[in-house]
Amino acid sequence: MLKLSNMVKSSNMMETLPEKVLVASPRAFCAGVERAIRMTDELRSKVSGPIYVYHEIIHNKPVVVEFRAKEVVFVDDIEDIPDDSNAEFSAHGVTNKVRQRAKEKGLHWLDATCPLVRKVHDERDRFIAEGRQIILFGHKGHDETVGTVNDNPENIKLVTSISDLDSLEVRNPEKLALLTQTTLSVDDTKEVADAIRRRFPNIVEPKKEDICFATQNRQNGVKEMVKLWAEVILILGSQNSSNSQRLKEVAQSFGVKGYLFDDVYEFDLDWILGKRIIGITAGASAAPERVDGLTAHLKNLGISNFEEVVVAREGFNFK
Ligand code: SF4
Repeated sequence: MLKLSNMVKSSNMMETLPEKVLVASPRAFCAGVERAIRMTDELRSKVSGPIYVYHEIIHNKPVVVEFRAKEVVFVDDIEDIPDDSNAEFSAHGVTNKVRQRAKEKGLHWLDATCPLVRKVHDERDRFIAEGRQIILFGHKGHDETVGTVNDNPENIKLVTSISDLDSLEVRNPEKLALLTQTTLSVDDTKEVADAIRRRFPNIVEPKKEDICFATQNRQNGVKEMVKLWAEVILILGSQNSSNSQRLKEVAQSFGVKGYLFDDVYEFDLDWILGKRIIGITAGASAAPERVDGLTAHLKNLGISNFEEVVVAREGFNFK
């Protein structure tokens, strides 16, 4: 339900509504998230009874709530999945141990791991096979990072911030590789990666960086809207979504307030009253309909000047 107070305030304060709303493109679902949702939908249409998904299929509350209503059960422990059940792994990837347990339990599973997370896992396996120890820059406890560390802390050292480098000890500085989580801040990652390279000049890296195109494009969208004088950025996405949180941080790194929320019913008009230009985007795990709902609400309030800010073209699918 929309906030009634928004309607009352807007009728009194037409003159303080923004003159212009910038809407970033690309925004909302990325190819990896669309693939994970498509796989779950297809599995749902083929089997009856509960489908067990190891971790939330994507980090988005409205999507998870919709699937729960269709007898999709999300678990954080593989042991919570009954033997011989229909199951799926989330887009964030899993450890080899989880795969092994899934086999032992006779699960019939689909793997919705994003191909770009899978790429990081392949790099990990290749570097370890070369006898290298890996420095992984990522968020401790995030589903993707847990999957990439793969219960292998001896071979994979997790760095969560530049200050971790002070206490970082490695086996052999000449035999190292650098990997990162896919959904980090591009700017923070550059800073930390540069510090790691300075300390370990012979560290090797994948040919193509690990931060994915969708994360980069959405962060570039925020930067572009800030350049175009957006004074507030409204971000559709969930609090547990790493790439959505990074959008808020990118805005705030330029001194622009970012508000991260799941749907229009959480929107507060006070966030934008008195601002001349505002920006809208959505994390890679938020449905495009959430943005449509917000823009429709703003139009109802009396705002008519919307401008699309295109920083890249995506428009492709993962099989
Ligand atoms: S944000 Fe990037 S890594 Fe994550 S699912 Fe989307 S494309 Fe894949």
